[in-house]
Amino acid sequence: MQVCSTKAEFRGFLDNVRALGRTVGLVPTMGALHDGHLSLLRSAAAECDVVALTIFVNPLQFAAGEDLSAYPRPLERDLELAEAAGADVVFTPSNAEMYPVPVATTVHVDGLTAPMEGAARPTHFDGVTTVVAKLFNIAGTCRAYFGEKDFQQLAVVTRMAFDLDQPVTVVPCPIIRETDGLAMSSRNAYLDRADREAATVLHRALRAGAAMISAGETDPGIVARHVASVIEAEPLASPGYAEVVDPATLETPTVLVPGSTVRLLATALFGSTRLLDNLEVPVP
Ligand code: AMP
Repeated sequence: MQVCSTKAEFRGFLDNVRALGRTVGLVPTMGALHDGHLSLLRSAAAECDVVALTIFVNPLQFAAGEDLSAYPRPLERDLELAEAAGADVVFTPSNAEMYPVPVATTVHVDGLTAPMEGAARPTHFDGVTTVVAKLFNIAGTCRAYFGEKDFQQLAVVTRMAFDLDQPVTVVPCPIIRETDGLAMSSRNAYLDRADREAATVLHRALRAGAAMISAGETDPGIVARHVASVIEAEPLASPGYAEVVDPATLETPTVLVPGSTVRLLATALFGSTRLLDNLEVPVP
């Protein structure tokens, strides 16, 4: 496995790969790898000739007061896990390599970025789309693997690649969970024992909402309030949003249409750790 710290090295490696007629699978991450990340690497390895992992804790997507400096950076361990999961090349740029001067150009996706995470973290998605656009430009033609764990991010990045004609096919990958249902996240490492236990309420609340839809409820407001009420019942959780949305537009439908599929999304704070989760639900 080749480790590159410069854009030129990484771009050159992948240009050579494609010149030999081989395909590239790209997995952008912020590191602190867990089984969720590794599942993306394995999907890329199953579908592409060469797997490229990027590890970069992108300062642009953190607001002041968020966990940029505390974010875990276990690089040696990440490299071992990445190699075992099938990575062929890893790009681990420094901040100075990615942003040699402050960026004057920002990629902004309208609409999809307005609700939920966009409302809670107003500068977040511009930071994400700007760095992902840079990574796509550096990596070149590829399939890029993103987790449904960050469902809104997946929608936003997919739309960016489409709108900007980037030579990248964005591939959605399912959420990997702990055995008790908690969605895997690098931020789970921040949780103390009590908060770790309490954090399972997110998945339970989403499943309670899904059960309501399966039982015939067609009012998305009633479902969302039920999800919120399950989270509120957990004393260690400070609830954020709970939403029922159309997976394509991220807008809340006025009524749940039989035969359609909706996405339930919810967030909550446990101590100072903000976690998010979501679930696909078919409407009977
Ligand atoms: P991050 O390092 O948190 O920026 O995540 C990098 C990529 O891994 C994103 O596409 C995430 O959606 C994806 N990811 C994170 N956690 C999970 C998970 N539990 N299951 C599947 N994908 C995940």
